[in-house]
Amino acid sequence: MKSTDCCSICSKQTDDGIYLLRIYICSSCEKEMIHTSTDDPKYKFYIEQMNKAHRAMIYS
Ligand SMILES: [Zn+2]
Repeated sequence: MKSTDCCSICSKQTDDGIYLLRIYICSSCEKEMIHTSTDDPKYKFYIEQMNKAHRAMIYS
């Protein structure tokens, strides 16, 4: 099932994405995350964005 949602990382609205731990991530962010090494500062940014999105979901 496809649904249009807002990406938790780049805030882009798209139906081309996946739910990762119930957090919506567009396919381009997903690809970038996969290709980002864990010691890249960008990786930390992705994790922080996901944590933020996860917290927002819990307390909303
Ligand atoms: Zn995105």
